[in-house]
Order: sequence, then structure tokens, then C-alpha cells
Amino acid sequence: MDCVFCKIANGEIPSKKVYEDDKILVFHDLDPQAPVHVLIIPKQHISSTWEITEENSGIIAYVFEKAPQLAKQLGLDGGFRLVNNCGNDGGQTVQHLHFHLLGGRFMAWPPG
Ligand code: AMP
Ligand code: ZN
Repeated sequence: MDCVFCKIANGEIPSKKVYEDDKILVFHDLDPQAPVHVLIIPKQHISSTWEITEENSGIIAYVFEKAPQLAKQLGLDGGFRLVNNCGNDGGQTVQHLHFHLLGGRFMAWPPG
């Protein structure tokens, strides 16, 4: 499948890995929007949050279980933002479900 994040997950495209296990991969974003900006992706291809169902939603709980551990590991003691962009209006550019974990500076609200 021609999916950049699947290729990162299977090692075809290199990434700066932060964490990996059998379910997720975490790596630095190519175009960081904050001092710390990593992406958390499921290894399983799910196109977006539109595709989340009762059957596959366990991966979302797993990402949220891991996020505070990753934030601590990355030194984000002051807090962090966990973002999922879904669809065109949501600003999604890569069609493989992912969460942006951002921190290291104050995050304004609302986003642009
Ligand atoms: P989104 O706009 O929410 O779909 O986020 C996609 C993110 O993936 C953007 O922040 C990009 O900078 C990032 N990105 C795209 N290709 C790569 C890559 N090969 N390695 C790391 N990050 C990437
Ligand atoms: Zn994919």
C-alpha cells in the first residue's frame, strides 16, 4: 500500500524513532511545530478517526495510555497537547491515523 506511515512502520522509510512496541510506533515529526513534536501511529493501517469502530477502538485507549509515559520521557513536565487531525477540514495530510504529541512551549487556543 502506498502509505508513508505504513512504510515508516515497516522500516521502508527511515524515521527518528522515540518508542516502538508491537502496536504503536512513535517518531519525530519531519516539520516540528514545537520544541517537542512526535507522532504516535498505530502499526495497523487505519486511515483516520472516521474509521474508528467498536472493533478497533482499543488502539485509541492504548495511545492514550502510552501518551503520559512518552510525555514524561520527553521531559514535558509542564504539560502537552495530543492532537488528531481528521479529514480535510481537520487538516489531515497523511491518511494513516496518527496523534501529534506536542510540548516544550505554551500552546495557544484556539488553533488556527
Ligand atoms: P497531519 O497534517 O495531521 O496529517 O500530520 C502529518 C504530519 O506528518 C505532519 O506534521 C508532517 O510534518 C509529518 N510527516 C509527513 N511525512 C513524514 C515523515 N516521513 N517523517 C516524519 N513526519 C512526517
Ligand atoms: Zn498506513
